[in-house]
Amino acid sequence: MSAKVIDGKEFAANVRAKVAEHVARLKEANGITPGLAVVLVGEDPASEVYVRSKGKSTVEAGMNSYEHKLDADTSEADLLALIDKLNNDPAVHGILVQLPLPGHLNSDLVINSIDPAKDVDGFHISNVGLLGTGQKSMVPCTPLGCLMMLRDHHGSLSGLDAVVVGRSNIVGKPMAQLLLGDSCTVTIAHSRTKDLAEVCRRADILVAAVGRPEMIPGDWVKPGATVIDVGINRIERDGKKKLVGDVEYESCAAVAGAITPVPGGVGPMTIACLLANTLTACCRANGLAEPEGLTA
Ligand code: NDP
Repeated sequence: MSAKVIDGKEFAANVRAKVAEHVARLKEANGITPGLAVVLVGEDPASEVYVRSKGKSTVEAGMNSYEHKLDADTSEADLLALIDKLNNDPAVHGILVQLPLPGHLNSDLVINSIDPAKDVDGFHISNVGLLGTGQKSMVPCTPLGCLMMLRDHHGSLSGLDAVVVGRSNIVGKPMAQLLLGDSCTVTIAHSRTKDLAEVCRRADILVAAVGRPEMIPGDWVKPGATVIDVGINRIERDGKKKLVGDVEYESCAAVAGAITPVPGGVGPMTIACLLANTLTACCRANGLAEPEGLTA
């Protein structure tokens, strides 16, 4: 069997086009332009690339982008004051604080100071609680993107066995909650899981969010399963730099029914979902109907 390749680039382009269409309608019918504020503290090169790319995508979708770049030694009080200002700014519908923050800043405190209604990353403790109790929330972008691709591929996920490898707060746990919300039977595996290979072999849906290059080989995959590879690992092979996922692509693709590649799978969906979340937050803030198919 050779797996269907789930094209995250194409999927993300469709999501972005849907967002842009909805934004254009909002502007025309209601005179509202959604706005996303991104806060970057310090000069981490990878974070700078992400922030630039988020800003560019926001503008391309017809939304306003507000970038706030702060010095690496910014005090917690100054950062909290900026977030308070953004919380109270009606032109800002989404706020994202780029992680990781410099070590002297308390990330939990900072994230929990964002108005939950504007928390487009879905990391605020209120949104985590709302998602966990099956209530309307802002959903973390990467797992939301995975869910959209899974729904598109399977239609209903009800009753499927899902295994999520990884239990981080930003990917593994919210992914598991979303799959549970769609009535999968969910197992969360992690570094202490016994016989991980056997656990993975049970999965109709296998989500790998580990951060270990090509850790999952094809013989851990149930024939016909859908494999969602969240991992982004930079490795060097034959003297060349390369991006690989958490699954061994060739051997997994030979067994799976469908698979996301790296790059070009989950990655592009993350920014697309950030735009979708900003639009959703804007619609909710204005008491307007939410865009269909762009929320959990
Ligand atoms: P974390 O490091 O926060 O979490 C990794 C998880 O994997 C932990 O729960 C850990 O278990 C588990 N783990 C580590 N080693 C093993 C092992 N040998 N066997 C089983 N489980 C293991 O990572 P993130 O969740 O933040 O990210 C995971 C991957 O996804 C990374 O490659 C990251 O770059 C990528 N990523 C991609 C995004 C995208 O847009 N595509 C967005 C976010 C992340 P334990 O808890 O026991 O330590």
